[in-house]
Amino acid sequence: MAISLSSDFLSSAPHFAKGCEGCTYGLAAAPEIVGMLMLPEQRAVQMDEDLIEFCNCKAGHLYRQYLRKVLNAMTMETRRNVRHYVLAALVPSVHYESETA
Ligand SMILES: [Zn+2]
Repeated sequence: MAISLSSDFLSSAPHFAKGCEGCTYGLAAAPEIVGMLMLPEQRAVQMDEDLIEFCNCKAGHLYRQYLRKVLNAMTMETRRNVRHYVLAALVPSVHYESETA
């Protein structure tokens, strides 16, 4: 699964934080992100919803730690708002099938 990341946290991260052969920035599998929302907040909510599979390498542990901090810094209202979009993005799109058929 291709994962694009562009936040300051990740672009300034040391080499080991970019992950191993089995992951991207410590993520083994994660849902698509929603373009209009802050990436760290989306990933934090995805983690909270058990939607992210972290790699066992150092990058995976670091990213999980980082997202816990992000999640703790979010208000309940922000979490609720982000969760709404994150969960809505998980709904399979029929449109996608017609484009690739
Ligand atoms: Zn890894």
